[in-house]
Amino acid sequence: MTPDELRSFRERRGENQTGFAQWLNARLGRKYDNATISRWESGAERIPAKVAEFVAGLSHRPARVIAVANQKGGVGKTTTTLNLAYALGELGRRVLVVDADQQATATEGAGLDPMALQDERRGLEDVLFGETAIRDAIVRRDGFDILPCSIALAEAQIKILLDPDDGRYALRERLEEVQHDYDFVLIDCPPELALITVTALVAADQVLIPTKASRYDVRGIPLILDTVAKIRRRQNPGLGILGILPTMFNRSYAVEQQVLNDLRGLLEGRARIFEPIPRSTEVDQATYAGELPIRALPKSHSISAYRSMAREIIDGD
Ligand code: ADP
Ligand code: MG
Repeated sequence: MTPDELRSFRERRGENQTGFAQWLNARLGRKYDNATISRWESGAERIPAKVAEFVAGLSHRPARVIAVANQKGGVGKTTTTLNLAYALGELGRRVLVVDADQQATATEGAGLDPMALQDERRGLEDVLFGETAIRDAIVRRDGFDILPCSIALAEAQIKILLDPDDGRYALRERLEEVQHDYDFVLIDCPPELALITVTALVAADQVLIPTKASRYDVRGIPLILDTVAKIRRRQNPGLGILGILPTMFNRSYAVEQQVLNDLRGLLEGRARIFEPIPRSTEVDQATYAGELPIRALPKSHSISAYRSMAREIIDGD
């Protein structure tokens, strides 16, 4: 490992030399400080073999793939995918968003025109079975990259179904081609447990389940957990649950607090529940105006909740 490689690794993590030293110390049980890191990065002191080995191991680790899924619509899947992707990007991570919902809301939310991309054959629907190479379809945005889709993804479902080699593995295989280009891949799933959702869960390392804190919304959670368990038994033994994320949360509504408590009881030991994302009309307004809330509203409470969540996800890495 060269001094420059170490520096760029640290910068990609979005840490200064002090923060990086603390992070290394926690993992390797050492007592390095910012001055040590500075000497390694300038070449004034040799990087110890243990550190070089540890960092090199992480640099070559494939992207962590997170499917953002819930068969309910309007629970904050797309909002979570885009804002979390941006927040991870702010922390120096390389992030790919995959739009797997034919309604193409993540594509639009990222400021793209699904129909124009459809004409260029740059959609998930063109990539799944290799008509377009995945790297040729990915669009670079400020903060993250996105593999868009359009309404034509609806037809890809039929191809998944009819594929003699089991089309449910198609996304997994395509993502393997870019797994070293990114630290995280976030898949925005459609509001149904359709084949494309299964395809996303087969490709994923973890699933994140956004939900509203309402009695009816929470009721659907065991269904998605059962689906995850089924896929874990058959196609993807490594599939884990990142957690449940209560969204659009209204702290002043006693009933929402109550639902959250019920949820804790219901999931006892089955899945972790993240800190709720507060509801804010500004977030909804920004989305309506076609802006990414995290860019338009850097000071909103909802956005700082997404930022803390991004930090937690990275720390658990
Ligand atoms: P899904 O992808 O699950 O269908 P969306 O992310 O599209 O859900 O969110 C549904 C609606 O809720 C959108 O209009 C969005 O702007 C709004 N919304 C999402 N999160 C928040 C929030 N924290 N506060 C207020 N409105 C929100
Ligand atoms: Mg959506």
